[in-house]
Amino acid sequence: MQQSARVLIDGPSELVFDYMIPDGMAVATGCRVRIPLRNRDSTGTVLEVGPPPQTNYNLRLVSKLIDPDPLITPQLMKLGKWIAEYYVAPLEQVMRALLPESVRQEMHSEKTRKIVEIKEMPDAEALEKLAKRAPKQHIILKLLESNSGMMSLKDLGGGSVTAAVKSLVKKGHVVLKEEAVRRDPDEDQEFLESAPLKLNPEQVVALEKIVNPATNDKGIPKPILLLGVTGSGKTEVYLQGVQHALDQGKSALILVPEISLTPQTVQRFKSRFAALHDQVAVLHSHLSQGERFDEWHRIRKGEARIVIGARSAIFAPLTNVGIIIVDEEHENTYKQETSPRYHGRDIAVLRAHFEKAVVVLGSATPSLESFQNTQSGKYELVRLDQRADSQSMPIMRVLDMRIEAQKQKGRLAILSDKLRLSMEKKLENGEQIILFLNRRGFARSLQCPPCGYVCECQHCSIPLTYHRTEDRLMCHMCGYQSLPPKKCPSCGDEAIRLQGFGTQKVEEVIQKVFPQARMARIDADTMRRKNALRDTLNKFKAHKIDIIIGTQMIAKGLHFPNVTLVGVLNADLGLQVPDFRAGERTFQLLTQVAGRAGRGELEGEVIIQTFTPHSPSVQFSRHHDFDGYAEQELQFRNKFLYPPFAHCALLGTRSTHERRAEFTLENLHKRLKKDLPPQVELGEPMPSPLTRAHGQFRYHLMLKSTSARALHQHVKRILTATPPPDDVTIVFDMDALGFS
Ligand code: ADP
Ligand code: ZN
Repeated sequence: MQQSARVLIDGPSELVFDYMIPDGMAVATGCRVRIPLRNRDSTGTVLEVGPPPQTNYNLRLVSKLIDPDPLITPQLMKLGKWIAEYYVAPLEQVMRALLPESVRQEMHSEKTRKIVEIKEMPDAEALEKLAKRAPKQHIILKLLESNSGMMSLKDLGGGSVTAAVKSLVKKGHVVLKEEAVRRDPDEDQEFLESAPLKLNPEQVVALEKIVNPATNDKGIPKPILLLGVTGSGKTEVYLQGVQHALDQGKSALILVPEISLTPQTVQRFKSRFAALHDQVAVLHSHLSQGERFDEWHRIRKGEARIVIGARSAIFAPLTNVGIIIVDEEHENTYKQETSPRYHGRDIAVLRAHFEKAVVVLGSATPSLESFQNTQSGKYELVRLDQRADSQSMPIMRVLDMRIEAQKQKGRLAILSDKLRLSMEKKLENGEQIILFLNRRGFARSLQCPPCGYVCECQHCSIPLTYHRTEDRLMCHMCGYQSLPPKKCPSCGDEAIRLQGFGTQKVEEVIQKVFPQARMARIDADTMRRKNALRDTLNKFKAHKIDIIIGTQMIAKGLHFPNVTLVGVLNADLGLQVPDFRAGERTFQLLTQVAGRAGRGELEGEVIIQTFTPHSPSVQFSRHHDFDGYAEQELQFRNKFLYPPFAHCALLGTRSTHERRAEFTLENLHKRLKKDLPPQVELGEPMPSPLTRAHGQFRYHLMLKSTSARALHQHVKRILTATPPPDDVTIVFDMDALGFS
């Protein structure tokens, strides 16, 4: 019987129509097709193929099969449908994530070049004649001969020789061919092959678990959480795990938080597999459309078997996947902030499941979600507790800035005496320094400098945010409000106030204190230029820079043996954002940043400046104690029913008309409240901490549930039944990571 295809039409309206498949046209799920839509021609992606649905009217025919092979593998199709449902995102948007723009539009075809090749050389006599009558043709033949018979038209002289080449073609001496050229994004770089290292005993065990993973009764490997302290040699384990997959004839997928922020990790992969350089594809946001098109098709054709990329690389069209690695799995950048708002790490685990591949989540500071999964037995926990080169962990010192603030009376306390003295010493010794400033968060809380007290919500145990326009403190989880205190509720001091300084200010101060030192600032403002970060880090490596001052951009995966001092200027800033994950993030950042110190022969030292020296984030990271931290943090999460013990989602409205945003959300709130499933908890609507962005007012409410399914299905039902007014946009963020 004739089959029909359900086609998702390209375009913003997410239309889905059925078409009959003409006899002999091999249309399959995931194929791209041309179809008639009303009275014009359109394109779309085939979602399903099956017997035609019962209808009263005749289905129209698919007019053309664009790609004979399905562009989307069945596993990726399954993944896409799962994402659309779980994150309540239109399937069309998921398809856009699965297929890059340049691949979907047919405009970026392969780049080719013209090649001239000798077919038959004239004999000596004819050649002599040619030299006299047509010297240009003679030169071309001679040039070709000395280049093993083949050259590109461009190298021969391009337009200036075209006529001569054409004559030679006519005479049958040469042929002109087209050859596909790959647009190689890393053309300008060379990678020296690096040999595998001999693994230490801990690494041997870890690799063994990856190579022979525990499996469930269906033969599907259990996900592995590789918890390895900074410098424990996780990367070497990944590299050898990938090698093993390749040896089995399988492919490998490596996710990193952000390509441009992890140049060293990418370089290590490129070097190790330098001999296979054509088989390594690196996907990142700086690729041109053409480069992306080429890389994507190289992967799909199986020419590239190792793919390294950020979040969206999880959709790389690899087949026969053997291993998926998620490096620094705790990083927020794995969560997509526009629809579909998927989490790259979670999708990696799911894709590995569908592909029956092993998935390795690696981190020195795993997310509590992943760690809890090892506690419940869903994931396998594998540890590396020692540094690979048997270096000791750096010495951590915590400096109480409440005392420092009193000493430096009235002035902004940026640099403590202790840190300044230590910097002096390191500079004298010719060693290098990293200064870290946690500038995360725009929402500001009130803190008392003399005692460190921070105003918190009684119901949520997160800092209250100060709203200047209303002169109010507000809780961004539950909506609780209070007047800002005139005196500190804890010690009675009147100095309670908003505090903060940025990287620029720090650079100014350091420049004054150490006028001789060569320094560089690394933050979003100074690193806009392509490759700016790579260049600065190379300079630092070559010791052309003594001090780097940076934000979270420098917290990740950097390895500089000559760095012996890391200073954390304001460890608390991250604790003051209205988010139950604030403590977790601060712990992660402090531990990661500290891990940059003492990675060579020299011992490392870390100085943490803080107003809250006794906070668990500071204390546990000081003792390199992930387990201790996780234990107490999980207790807190359990008590307030936060993730990983429940799913948290954010439902928001955005509009240029404040009242419309507010009213639409209140209306949705009312409807959500009716028939609320018992597992779901519904928060009150309130203005977002970032109350206005890009000229739009923002309101949101939070939902919590022990059942993800109950939550997203309820939301989907209400959203489908309640279309918003034209000037209001609705945002739904399942498993939200940010609450701004
Ligand atoms: P991580 O990724 O866990 O932070 P790295 O992979 O960066 O750790 O390893 C830290 C350092 O130890 C690197 O310089 C790496 O080359 C080195 N290293 C890793 N494994 C070994 C090993 N088995 N023998 C010697 N050196 C190693
Ligand atoms: Zn609250």
